[in-house]
Amino acid sequence: METKDNYIPLKRYTIRIWVLPIFILSILFSIFIYNNTKNIIYQNIYANITELSEQSVTNLNQTITNQIQFVETMADSINKGYFKTTESVFHNFAENMEDYKFTRLAIIDKNGNGITNDGHIITNYANIEEFFEQDEVYLSENRPSLISDEQVNIYSKKCYIDNQEKIICAIIETNNYKSILTTKLFDGKGGTYLINNNGVVLIDSFDEINENNINLFNYINKKYNLNLSQSTKISKMARDIKNKRNGTFDITFNHHTYFFNYEKIDVNDWYVISLVSDDTIAKELTDFLFVFLTASILLTAAIITACIGIDISHQNKNRKLFRTAFIDPVTNLGNLQYFRANSNLFLEHQKGNRYVVSIDISKFKAFNNIYGYEFCNKILKSVGNIIKDVINKDCMVCRLYSDVFAVIFKYNKDIDSLLNRIAEKASNINIDDTNIKLNLSMGVYKIQKNDTNIDNILSKVYMSRSKVKGQYEQLYYIYDENLENQLLEEQEIESNMKLALKNKEFKIYYQPKFYPEDKKLAGAEALVRWYRGDTIVPPNKFIPLFEKNRFIIKLDLYIFEQVCKDMASWKEKYGYAPKVSINVSKEHFVNPNFIDEYVKIIKKYNIDTSNIDLEITESATVDKQINILEIMNKIKDLGFIISIDDFGTGYSSLSMLESMPIDIIKVDKVFVDKVDFNSNKNIINHIMFISKQLELETIVEGVETEEQFEYVKNLGCNMIQGYYFSKPITKEEFEKYL
Ligand code: C2E
Ligand code: CA
Ligand code: CA
Repeated sequence: METKDNYIPLKRYTIRIWVLPIFILSILFSIFIYNNTKNIIYQNIYANITELSEQSVTNLNQTITNQIQFVETMADSINKGYFKTTESVFHNFAENMEDYKFTRLAIIDKNGNGITNDGHIITNYANIEEFFEQDEVYLSENRPSLISDEQVNIYSKKCYIDNQEKIICAIIETNNYKSILTTKLFDGKGGTYLINNNGVVLIDSFDEINENNINLFNYINKKYNLNLSQSTKISKMARDIKNKRNGTFDITFNHHTYFFNYEKIDVNDWYVISLVSDDTIAKELTDFLFVFLTASILLTAAIITACIGIDISHQNKNRKLFRTAFIDPVTNLGNLQYFRANSNLFLEHQKGNRYVVSIDISKFKAFNNIYGYEFCNKILKSVGNIIKDVINKDCMVCRLYSDVFAVIFKYNKDIDSLLNRIAEKASNINIDDTNIKLNLSMGVYKIQKNDTNIDNILSKVYMSRSKVKGQYEQLYYIYDENLENQLLEEQEIESNMKLALKNKEFKIYYQPKFYPEDKKLAGAEALVRWYRGDTIVPPNKFIPLFEKNRFIIKLDLYIFEQVCKDMASWKEKYGYAPKVSINVSKEHFVNPNFIDEYVKIIKKYNIDTSNIDLEITESATVDKQINILEIMNKIKDLGFIISIDDFGTGYSSLSMLESMPIDIIKVDKVFVDKVDFNSNKNIINHIMFISKQLELETIVEGVETEEQFEYVKNLGCNMIQGYYFSKPITKEEFEKYL
């Protein structure tokens, strides 16, 4: 899972899966072509070998027929009595015998005794009966020559000469057949055997067999060390030859294929066996395949390169589209779409405590107005980095829109301290040597096991954020079950508030203030109440919301006007009006001219500004976004009294207090509640001391008991407000004090 750089994660360039099928296809195609080519070449070989065999057979048949004819002629002429003596026969035929490739002629009697035309005497020639058993011209198998070392074959026919039956023989050296057979096939890689019907080799064009009476079938079996299935093919050839059938076949061993053709000749059932190995062809084939494979590899590579090129450009286009659709160009973070698309992925991969936090920069619009667009883009970038840096890992940070970020992350430690760290870093950033203090509001949601819908999650996060938006006291809100009801209530209030104002549902209660010494009326604080049907809604139920949605501006003005109206009526009724303090929310101060509206009302009812005390909370004085001095001075110049409300809760500094045109410090109720009556080390003592130092008046709020009253009175406070004297009461009730 990605960490720091989180999920921005453009898709990597991928070599697409289709490269594989193309490769496989091209290999399959090559194999197909290879096999096809091989088949064609094999068929070609068969055709060739058959043709060459046939040629050999034809030549052999022709030659032998002529030779037989020659011997026939000799025997005929002898039998017809044209020649009386051996000498006259030799004399007549020896001349022509060379035309028929015969080396010599001989005439032999039944005892094997005879003579050759070149004067060799033959005695007791072996197996002479073989010749006398034949009536037609007989062609013998190989026999050793009596005269030379050569093998010879003898053509013979019986005839009557010298008054007895003899045979006339024409002798041919066996080797002579070789020149008749097409012995050298395929550049000498092939060759021919002439065998008899039993497989005995008569001629071997390979010149490997030197002995007599060698059986070709056994010889091949032995020479090539054939296995059973291979030798079965040889046996079949032997059977075919026995049955006078022709045929072809091939045997493969030792990575070579041998092609055989066997064809019968017309004489003695002898066979011409032609044999060739694929050596030559193999070369042809490899040459072809080399060219073919190189071409096909180059072609495939070209296609793949082209496709990858197209693919990359496609992916680049997708990346660009992806960037514009999912990436925020300002911060380089994902946008809302990205967040929605990838958070599920995150949830799937990250288990444990997972949170979604939405972060909003308060008053970012104001920054934009002050510093300009470009500068504020740097602020956004910097906020993104802060979030990433603080969470550090297992997080996905996105900028959803304008100044709103969201981060989904896994975190097993204290979430509060993490959020505070983010807020703290944001409260002090440096951009182009300018110090910027950002206020963040953060909505937090801890993801539950059954949470899968990111939109639901986001809406809960937004809800939580809306709870703290615009507040400086609370920076984040962690979603809880009550939030939804609260928000519903708020929504209900918001949708009714305008109408309520119009219908005069907001009423003023006055809480009287007294001088402690004589318990005489010192004035009153105007506090708003909302009359909704039968119930009176207290301000803490709606004021914070109105501050958030700024409706408080309208309400405060309304209250101010009602108070002025009351004061005018009191002046008329009682001849005077008591001093009244009116709460002014700090929301007004965003607009420094807010006071003009107040002045308009003052004039309308002819009220003396020195009779009105404007209560400003201490927290407003420490808000960096407000130029409080300018505002206070304006108010002061108009003659209003200024009190600092809820003093002691807002961390204002002494120097600030000193520089502000304040009249009264209003000590918050909490300090009264905390008083330990047996000690003089209470905070309220210090506050009183400070205000005396600054020559300010003090009023203590929330005094409820006699004891408290006595205590704060003795501290020398100027005024007291609290249930000890009176709760806030209606105008009519208050008038009793006048
Ligand atoms: P605050 O300005 O501090 O007002 C004093 C609050 O303390 C009042 O609450 C008052 O009823 C309460 N209080 C006074 N004496 C005692 C006491 O002895 N015991 C107790 N328990 N409470 C005491 P309230 O009226 O509920 O108002 C609450 C807050 O709402 C005010 O606090 C003020 O901040 C705000 N608020 C009320 N009216 C207005 C208004 O017209 N405009 C603005 N901006 N804020 C208002
Ligand atoms: Ca007040
Ligand atoms: Ca107060």
